[in-house]
Amino acid sequence: LAGQITHADIDKLAAAHFPPCMRSLHMALRRDAHLKHFGRMQYGLFLKGIGLSLEEALVFWRQAFRSKTDEEFQKSYAYNIRHNYGREGKRTDYTPYSCSKIITTNRPSTGDHHGCPFRDFAPDNLRALLSTFGVPEQGLPQVLQLAKEGHPEVACTRVFEITRGLGGEGGAQGRNMHGTTGLVETVGHPNQFFEMSYELAV
Ligand code: SF4
Repeated sequence: LAGQITHADIDKLAAAHFPPCMRSLHMALRRDAHLKHFGRMQYGLFLKGIGLSLEEALVFWRQAFRSKTDEEFQKSYAYNIRHNYGREGKRTDYTPYSCSKIITTNRPSTGDHHGCPFRDFAPDNLRALLSTFGVPEQGLPQVLQLAKEGHPEVACTRVFEITRGLGGEGGAQGRNMHGTTGLVETVGHPNQFFEMSYELAV
């Protein structure tokens, strides 16, 4: 999708294809018109990974941070966006974070929205988030249990299946030892979630 995605596509793509971690970051960004550093890193590199160019990323973040002046944006944020695309500093072309990197590094604290909801959200908040994302009531116990037992990627895979009509909405029938149907690869990367979802829809 490189070069095809523009800043104007992100709201629609977030609702249709983003994994819970990135959808949650997108919602926080739209609500607060801001994200803290690690949230911008996690989300910005993900967006780069789905094919958002540097030029489009600069427009996307400028519009999203609507309460900042142009000067504040240029001074405090634009450099880091260009840095993520390898156009500043050591010119490293940074890659999007995998689930294991998100789950094991830069643990979120109060006011942060990065991380993995299956690992970092309190059960009630996770339940509310998943309901917002269209996980029906009967599918929630299994997902919440997987998260509680420390299997965030399996829980995420199960959410993918449930919200895309793969393998029913609840119960254990027909599941493999991990609790998923085996119809899709276990999620190990947010960009993999996006690609699987996008491919199913086209
Ligand atoms: Fe994101 Fe991975 Fe967590 Fe899913 S398991 S919400 S893709 S970090």
